[in-house]
Amino acid sequence: MGKNDCIVVGGGIIGMATARELALRGLRVSLFDKGKLGMESSWAAGGILSPMRPWSENPGSFELSHQGKACYAGFISELKQQTGIDPEYYCSGLLMISQDDVGKTLQWAKNHEILFDEEYKNYPVNMRIPAKSIFLAEIAQVRVPRLLKALHASLLDLQVNIFENAELADLDNTQNNTQGILQSVTISGKKHYADNFIITAGAWTEKLLKKNDAQIEIEPVLGQMLCLKFPEQRFEMMVLDGGHYFIPRKDGHILIGSTMEHVGFNKETSETAKNELMAWARELWPDISEAKFIKHWSGLRPATENGKPYIGQLENYDNVYINAGHFRKGILQAPVCARMISEMIC
Ligand SMILES: Cc1cc2nc3c(=O)[nH]c(=O)nc-3n(C[C@H](O)[C@H](O)[C@H](O)COP(=O)(O)OP(=O)(O)OC[C@H]3O[C@@H](n4cnc5c(N)ncnc54)[C@H](O)[C@@H]3O)c2cc1C
Repeated sequence: MGKNDCIVVGGGIIGMATARELALRGLRVSLFDKGKLGMESSWAAGGILSPMRPWSENPGSFELSHQGKACYAGFISELKQQTGIDPEYYCSGLLMISQDDVGKTLQWAKNHEILFDEEYKNYPVNMRIPAKSIFLAEIAQVRVPRLLKALHASLLDLQVNIFENAELADLDNTQNNTQGILQSVTISGKKHYADNFIITAGAWTEKLLKKNDAQIEIEPVLGQMLCLKFPEQRFEMMVLDGGHYFIPRKDGHILIGSTMEHVGFNKETSETAKNELMAWARELWPDISEAKFIKHWSGLRPATENGKPYIGQLENYDNVYINAGHFRKGILQAPVCARMISEMIC
């Protein structure tokens, strides 16, 4: 294998989308992950293609979400055409029911010309929806594990070199020459050379760059999620109640999310979280008790202090870039952030 144009470290949705975008621009790309591609935070995600509390978002991150939303249909359609895999992207709409959030949602929707309906009454049967809820018809969802499968197939098709179970321990400063150019990284005892390096290690990014005195602060925030199943889909819209939500899929699966826990890199699921999610779900919609329990999982969201991801050059290096810290919006923001970082490189 010859020298790479780009090495991408971290194969979640951000790394996969970045590697794909660079390969589409004709560059030779290698993608490394310490485990299997897409099996960390990205696999855990629900796939709501909207910020949860858009009115309180950092303006820079809001802009990324806005652009992400605008380009998603095109991104999915290209992937589907290239790979034949359908990630089930569609505008199911979202019903915002938290009475604390209704006023702010309304104001935000008006300010940003988002289609909203205050009079909407076609609620899911037997759901205890407060009278003043708002339906946002344009909000879409995507089935994330299928999206990741499509991205993986696309990378293979574009001849991206994929290395799994390949962990980068750190960026070795001795590899630098005086201009701040990184020549290579050593992974699993082997040197890999490239012109450019992109770090997309999600919640592990700060850890990875610790030795480099980089001013990067990314904290893991655990999220737990449940999946249940009905024989058929009972309702179509997503329902958001503060931090809790239902995401119904077309085949009867229904996701119940999610917790927000500051427990470091501990990814264990807990009965406490499962009980909390089920109690919320039953209280709002007793019919959920008829569904079959399928799975309980967790993921580590990469959170930054100001809510905006790091997208750009790493301090002291001319050819090392970061694309990390997308917190609760990495699925939504992946295509637009991949494009941004690629435009900095070529
Ligand atoms: C429960 C839950 C629900 C969510 N719901 C949504 C949602 O509805 N909509 C939305 O937009 N977002 C959602 N998110 C957030 C979204 O999942 C994340 O923002 C996104 O997955 C971040 O992607 P990433 O590629 O940066 O991180 P990850 O997917 O965590 O990928 C990072 C990768 O880097 C690898 N890595 C780390 N260190 C190294 C190293 N040293 N060497 C090599 N590889 C390394 C890891 O193995 C991992 O595969 C949710 C998250 C959770 C946990």
